[in-house]
Amino acid sequence: MSIQSHIDDLRETVPSAVTLVAVSKFHPAGMVREAYDAGQRIFGESRVQELVVKKEQLPGDIAWHFIGNLQRNKVKQIAPFISLIHSLDNERLMLEIEKQGAANGRVIPCLLQIHIAEEETKAGFSPGECRQFLEGGKWKTCPHVRIAGVMGMATFTDDENQVRKEFRQLKSLFEEFKAGYFADDPVFREISMGMTGDYPVAIEEGSTMIRIGTLIFGDR
Ligand SMILES: *Cc1c(COP(=O)(O)O)cnc(C)c1O
Repeated sequence: MSIQSHIDDLRETVPSAVTLVAVSKFHPAGMVREAYDAGQRIFGESRVQELVVKKEQLPGDIAWHFIGNLQRNKVKQIAPFISLIHSLDNERLMLEIEKQGAANGRVIPCLLQIHIAEEETKAGFSPGECRQFLEGGKWKTCPHVRIAGVMGMATFTDDENQVRKEFRQLKSLFEEFKAGYFADDPVFREISMGMTGDYPVAIEEGSTMIRIGTLIFGDR
């Protein structure tokens, strides 16, 4: 099946309130172009170098999302154009995004990445760290960073109950943070959860944004 038909299928089955991020990492610009020609405008990349090269090769009306581990010294390269950073998970990174946002006269939307999976990984705040980060309040002094919600990845497993439990946890953290810090802020509204293997469960559990690579573009 073609990229076009995969995108059409997703459009038919995913509720219209859920944003589809097409994850194009490791796939060539020509394949991104095919998805673009099928009407897709939001793409996710996980490496800065790959992203800046692709951006040059592709139409200017694409909204690029950054979904991977982001090193502070690379923020500068994406700050001029990035639409959403899904992977804000520490204060020093936030301060760098603030600095580069200011330098570019931009407010950069970011999601708080939270570690919800069983697997060990360095990516993401623990729920406790995220609470501390919000309670600390430094984010309120960063007018060029806009916290727009949360992001998380479930454990890579066939156990649907496990995955569902983790997505529920992320949704519940979202509700907690919304009530505690963003009750009056309509920008804080995204729950980025769900990939090729688990997006139907993520949508059932309240995802507002799914990040789909393999299902659209094939294996990497
Ligand atoms: C690669 C990646 C995806 C897409 O994964 P697929 O299983 O190919 O759909 C989604 N989110 C993040 C953070 C990723 O790194």
